[in-house]
Formats: sequence, structure tokens, C-alpha cells
Amino acid sequence: MQRSLLILLALTLSLPVSAATIEGVRLWSGPDQNRLVFDLNGPVSHKLFVLHSPERVVVDIKNARLLHDLGRLDLSKSFVHRVRSATHNGNLRVVLDMRGKVQPKSFLLKPTQKYGHRLVIDLQEPSSKPTVTQRSVQATTGKVRDVIIAIDAGHGGDDPGASGRHGTREKDVVLAIARRLERLIRQERGMRPVMIRTGDYYVSLRKRMQKARDMKADLFISIHADAFRDGRARGASVWVLSQKGASSEAGRWLAESENSADLIGGVSLDDKDDLLASVLLDLSQNATIAASLDVGGLMLGELKRITKVHKPHVEQAGFVVLKSPDIPSILVETGFISNSREERNLRDPNYQRKLASAMLRGVRSYFTRNAPPGTLLALKPSGPKAKSGRKYVIRRGDTLSGIAQKYRISQKYLRTANNLSGDRLKVGQTLRIPVM
Ligand SMILES: [Zn+2]
Repeated sequence: MQRSLLILLALTLSLPVSAATIEGVRLWSGPDQNRLVFDLNGPVSHKLFVLHSPERVVVDIKNARLLHDLGRLDLSKSFVHRVRSATHNGNLRVVLDMRGKVQPKSFLLKPTQKYGHRLVIDLQEPSSKPTVTQRSVQATTGKVRDVIIAIDAGHGGDDPGASGRHGTREKDVVLAIARRLERLIRQERGMRPVMIRTGDYYVSLRKRMQKARDMKADLFISIHADAFRDGRARGASVWVLSQKGASSEAGRWLAESENSADLIGGVSLDDKDDLLASVLLDLSQNATIAASLDVGGLMLGELKRITKVHKPHVEQAGFVVLKSPDIPSILVETGFISNSREERNLRDPNYQRKLASAMLRGVRSYFTRNAPPGTLLALKPSGPKAKSGRKYVIRRGDTLSGIAQKYRISQKYLRTANNLSGDRLKVGQTLRIPVM
């Protein structure tokens, strides 16, 4: 009896105490949310709570060891003032000394291709409500408003997107291109840019749409740079939502990889908004898709002038981020980061500038034809530059009727304004586009 008890005791003692290990800690600081990610070697049980005066967020992780130096975290742009940790009875306690009040939330994420088990702590400022106030201000002022263009740099934070052979990350180059486009749009009369993400942090796909809605965007542009197994693949493409499934095999593959960003970037289940989900079923989506195809076509036409494109037409696939039922939305794949030449291009400031200018021209010609009522651009039939008269340089294949149609003016009027007697045009010839 005594002996068997001893054996049992010995067995128990020899079982390894399998503490979970925390191999890495990352912090992403967004303007209204901070995210702290613990990389784990397996699932853990944890508890999260808040202590006041001073404000602290406490994370207790059962049976865990910290192998990461918390002092290496860059706290400068975050809500966190200091991070401390202590172990007691094999349990780990991490204390975040906050700069002010926050609402924390935590959840576990299962492994994906890029990461293992993760414990995510989201810190939200209590004051950071969605910009509802902005909407009411806009509604009450009877003045003409600017056209609002939401610029969405894909990926971010924990989700680097595609990677090039020389280490270029999609999340970095698309943010750089987005910022250039933002700058160009800000200089346009009657247009205002809003950035969906302004730094290196992740925003869930639905939150991206929600942000665009909150800002009352008239157009949503998501910027990406994809990768493919075959390093020779190159060129840009423009995508809009398909309700019936992808228009090509490549489209299905691409939509799947872009949609999986939420798994990599990490989204908790309560991020799903019921209201939004029901709105998604709205039948008005068809009209929105038609408008998206329209702006996408103009964008593709501009991109063709500076780079090779995959397809001569806008492609369609089931991208979650393009599902806003009432905001025309397009996704621009600016190039293949997996192609060495395009990777070099994509990180070149000059090339980024060219891409942004092409996108701006696409946006401009769309709103010249489709200015939303109540906007400054809608006041003049030919858009912001109508007063001084636009100029158009003839390219190969242009016809007088085509140009007249493009600017919604009669051929006769166009001929008179340019002293043309017939319909013959010369490549390189400049036409004055008169104000109606
Ligand atoms: Zn992407």
C-alpha cells in the first residue's frame, strides 16, 4: 500500500509541468485602438481586468513563462505608458500602466499560415466613438460638400500581406502609395480624401467598410500588391465585387487570399456588426456594382498607360472589403510584389507617384461624369476645371464622337469651340473642351 502510493507520487512528480511559453510580444498602435499580441506555443487560459487610479490593465495567464523582453516594445505612440510582468506560482501577470482610461478586450486566435497561437489584447479609448458627429454636421449644413474618397491601404499590423523576394512587404508599399494618393486628392478642388488606415496596424475588413460609411465616402479604393507562385507573373489589375462568384480562377484565388487577412490580422467574433450584415443583403448592391465597374474601368484605362495589366477589363470576385451596398468600391492590385522587377518598382518613390497620379486621373474622370448631387463638383457640368476649360490631347483611336460623349457635350459644340470643319483628328492635337 505504502509502496504503491510512493510510486504514484513519483509518477506525478516526474510528469513535466508543461508551462505555456510566450515567445514574442508585439504592439500595434492605431489612432483609436492599440493591439497587444502575445505569440504562444499553445492555447492558454487567461483573465483580463482593469484597475483604476492609476489606470492599469492586468492580464493573468495561467501556467505561462515569458521569453520576450517587454522592454523592447515601442510604446511611444501607444496608450500604454509602461509594461511590467511578474511570475507567481508559475502564473504570469502582465500589467500595462496606461496613460488614461481604456476599454480592453481580449481573445485567443488559432494558428494560421503565418502565426501560431496568439492571445490578443485590444485597447480602445472610451472616447473614440465612431464619427457619428461628423455625419450630423454634414447633414445640417445646407452648403455644397466635397466628394469624399476613402483610401484603404490593405493589410497592416500583424498582417503583412504579400512579401517580395527582397523583403518588401505589401502593407508598407500600399500605405506609401495610399499616402501619395491622399496628398494628390487633397490638392483637388471639390474632393476630400480620408484614410482608412494611417499607420502600421490592422483594421478588420468589415471595420474598413464601416469607417468608409461613417465618413460618408462617395468612393472606396482599396490598394494592394499581390504575389503569385510564379515569379514571372506581373501587371496591375482592378477588381470590383461579384455577387455571383469570381469571374476567373485567379479571381477566386486572389479573393480567398485577400479575405483571409482577417484570420491573419486577427478579428474577434464580436467585430461582426449585425446592422451591417443585414445591410449587405440590400438589393441596391447591383447599382453600386455598376458604378464600381464604371470607376474601375476608368482607373484601369489610366493604369494601362503606366504599366502592364493582367486583363483588358475590370475583373470581379467576392472581396469582403468591397461589399458596401451603397458605396462604389474598387480594389486595385498595383502589381506583383513576387516579381523582382515590379517589387523594385513598387518601392520606388517615382513609380509610386506615377501610380497615385494614374489613380487620381481615374477618380477625377469618374466624378467629372458622376458628381453626386449636393457636391461642389456637381455644380458645374464639366467638373472643377470647367471654368478655365479643359484640354484634351488626342490619342490614337480617338474619335470626335467619342470625346464628345466622354465630356457629355455635343459634337457640334466641340467642333465650334475648336474651329474644326470635319471630324478628322491628329494624334497629339490638343482640343479645348468647352463649358456647357
Ligand atoms: Zn493584399
